[in-house]
Amino acid sequence: MSSGVVKRDPAWEHGDPIDGNKNGSICKYCGRVMKSGGVTRLKYHLSGLDPGNNVQRCNSVPPEVKAFITTLLKNKQHQKEKKTHGMENIRAGL
Ligand SMILES: [Zn+2]
Repeated sequence: MSSGVVKRDPAWEHGDPIDGNKNGSICKYCGRVMKSGGVTRLKYHLSGLDPGNNVQRCNSVPPEVKAFITTLLKNKQHQKEKKTHGMENIRAGL
């Protein structure tokens, strides 16, 4: 396995990275530039589901894209929960 290969997040279909800023993203629909937070912030912007309420919602995103990003975010939460449970099981086994 070679290092430095970043798995491309499907959310990048709806935004562009910023040259020289790994944590930046530009919304393809309204052109909003987010200088930090990476693709996660782009997802919050497109879905309007920002847990911290720090990210401006997108006014130009098509409804089907918004739904797609919402699904991505919910799937990720699900995976996180599973992982946490797995660690608890390992601790219990010890
Ligand atoms: Zn936008």
